[in-house]
Amino acid sequence: MTTVVLNDRAAKLWRKGRPWFFADDVQSGPDLPALVSVTDTRGHDAGLGFWSPRSRLALRLCGSWPGGELPTAEAFFDARIRDAVARRAPLAGADAGVRLVHGEVDGLAGLVVDRYADVVVVQVGAAYAEQECGALVAALEHHAGAPRMILARNDFAVRGLEGLPQEVRLLAGRRVESVRIVEGGLGITVRPFTGHKTGFYLDQRPARAFVREHARGRRVLDLFSYQGGFALSALSGGAAHATAIDQSADALAQAQADAEANGLGSGLTTRSANAFTELRELRKQGAEFDLVIVDPPAFAKSRREVDGGLRGYRDLNRLALRVLAPGGVVVTCSCSHHVQLPRFEDILRQAAADLPFRVVLRHRLGAGSDHPVWLGLPESEYLKVVVLERFD
Ligand code: SAH
Repeated sequence: MTTVVLNDRAAKLWRKGRPWFFADDVQSGPDLPALVSVTDTRGHDAGLGFWSPRSRLALRLCGSWPGGELPTAEAFFDARIRDAVARRAPLAGADAGVRLVHGEVDGLAGLVVDRYADVVVVQVGAAYAEQECGALVAALEHHAGAPRMILARNDFAVRGLEGLPQEVRLLAGRRVESVRIVEGGLGITVRPFTGHKTGFYLDQRPARAFVREHARGRRVLDLFSYQGGFALSALSGGAAHATAIDQSADALAQAQADAEANGLGSGLTTRSANAFTELRELRKQGAEFDLVIVDPPAFAKSRREVDGGLRGYRDLNRLALRVLAPGGVVVTCSCSHHVQLPRFEDILRQAAADLPFRVVLRHRLGAGSDHPVWLGLPESEYLKVVVLERFD
């Protein structure tokens, strides 16, 4: 049985709820990636952990295990996947898109599993899970509704920190190039091999529902639209028209195709452009919108980038507020882990400071309940969504 012992300083952090540790936080550890039992120096049980000898973040806790025996990889993944899937039962329609596993929050450090109808896409960000991929796949085949395909979208940068290569790999089943999910009555095409991340931005489901419910009769601008998730949600909620802007012509072509497939084609305009440039252009033209969605990629991907990122959010939101009609609403988002909500709201305050109308915070939204936040790991709350309204 492999046990890793936290030193006394690290054990103090653990007692405060911290689930992440560096190699020098522990007395010693195995040479290869492993599932380990974790204790403090007095033998108090800290549960299981993923041990990654090549990573700076060498130990990530993965919750408790009954009986105190170290489970096999098969038993471990089977139980964790079973429980994670059961937690999502309320969201689990056959044609739904749902995040089944949200990393450490589900006791599976570094692992993401998204289900799109009968297709499963994973991102494996822990060396142990990679090593025991067979056990993971068996558990998914058993608990995730007998998927047609299980695909690893392991082409993301942090894999390098675990010493793992970036790759896209079919793990089980047959190649499925595109799959249709239904969200709020809207059919959405997901492309597991070529789409962003695992294919789609499931985390924005609550904000898309908000937009659908507040769109009636409104002129909508969807900035950083990707495949137009917000624009199409707005049109399905009765928007007068929607303009989707993204730098990716390919994503916009999919938005257009999905709009047609849903009978919403006549309401959608797409423009492949830089959102900043386009906003300045729209302002020059005197364009006005009643509902603007601002959902950029993370501007601050690391601590070093925070200052520049904050300037980006400020400039962007200032521009967005300037094309807002009286009574208009901005749904503005930040998915930067390193910019927490108070800071983001402070930036929005600066963006609104010199405008000739009051900017009012109406709602705070965030990721859906399939992206739960572990209070011990503030990093798991990465998506901030703030709804601002223009009061004249
Ligand atoms: N709103 C989308 C997700 C947006 S992800 C949804 O709900 O599904 C961020 C998007 O911003 C990506 O599609 C990317 O192509 C686009 N993007 C990044 N930088 C951009 C820029 N400067 N101008 C326009 N689009 C940009």
